[in-house]
Amino acid sequence: MRNMLSRLAQELEPYVPGEQPVDKVYVKLNTNENPYPPSDRVLAAIHGAVDRLRLYPDPENTELKEVLATYWNSRLSYGSPKLETENFFVGNGSDEVLGFAFPAFFTDREVAFADITYSFYPVYAKLFHCTYREIPLDEDFQIPVEEFVKLAKEETPPAGILLANPNAPTGRGLSKEDVEKIIRANEESVVLVDEAYIDFGGESVVDLVREYDNLLVVQTLSKSRSLAGLRVGYAVGSETLIDGLNRVKNSFNSYTVDRLAMAGAVAAICDESHFQRTRHLIMETRSRVTEKLEEMGFNVVESEANFIFVTHKSHPAKDLFQGLREKGVLVRYFNKPRIDNYLRITIGTDGEMDILLHALEELLA
Ligand code: PMP
Repeated sequence: MRNMLSRLAQELEPYVPGEQPVDKVYVKLNTNENPYPPSDRVLAAIHGAVDRLRLYPDPENTELKEVLATYWNSRLSYGSPKLETENFFVGNGSDEVLGFAFPAFFTDREVAFADITYSFYPVYAKLFHCTYREIPLDEDFQIPVEEFVKLAKEETPPAGILLANPNAPTGRGLSKEDVEKIIRANEESVVLVDEAYIDFGGESVVDLVREYDNLLVVQTLSKSRSLAGLRVGYAVGSETLIDGLNRVKNSFNSYTVDRLAMAGAVAAICDESHFQRTRHLIMETRSRVTEKLEEMGFNVVESEANFIFVTHKSHPAKDLFQGLREKGVLVRYFNKPRIDNYLRITIGTDGEMDILLHALEELLA
């Protein structure tokens, strides 16, 4: 029966997402979802869009692109060239945007990314027949900027460089200056900066898009806008790069994002005060929990994301992961070299984090 699958399908090694268990209610700190509900305006907007569900959605997603352009233009420094709707691409979650970027720019070519980073990158690389180079993070899990800068000097520089900023699962962020150094040096390569977690303390490079034609920034509404279930992500880049993404999308399914998701996404981007309130709550909780965990003997990697990456001085991560699971708290454990003694813990509400801390106290006693 197996030979009914294409050779490609037989060879794939698909990405394994974090658990979404249905056996019981867990304190769920394993997939970096936002613990707070989305803006009330999202529900109202989705409700308002139901009437028009018999119609296909706008394949260009114009309304969302306009709202995004306004949002980003209001953040550009005075005198910078403005972003137009042609600088935006909308997809069904940023995973889909990344999935379109590979065939648009990288098929049969080489890409480079850190050895510890979002584990979807090697999956896409294999799917689209890319060779890939994994550049080791340095001792304290930081992206080695000079190693990425040096790629440009090679005889055949990679077609693509993928940087998750902040990185996952470590949570470490690069400064805007460092990201710009990599973009500027590698002008022959598409530099894709995946900013899924940027709103929790990082510095976005969206405002550099009009300056560097080789820069593609990818963002999502799944994390800081509390809309993981709605599946909306987007890219910002030069007209040429956005055209590449549109060519792939329109060769596959022109209507990637549905009417309800579009309405909800527009409402979420427009609710600035909800966005600011919830992201600050998460950052405050992150500081408090970091301090407590350090008192308990954990080393906590400095994080600019809505999760922390931790290791304990004496208790193996695998045992803590299992112990927490038995106590109804789900965190993420990666059985991979160099990080197999670490746990990635999503920042939940203060109440959820107190349950985590209490469970850990019992396990460490
Ligand atoms: N990039 C990174 C670094 C991520 O961790 C995730 C979430 N797993 C994504 C992109 C994709 O997020 P989404 O598809 O929900 O937008």
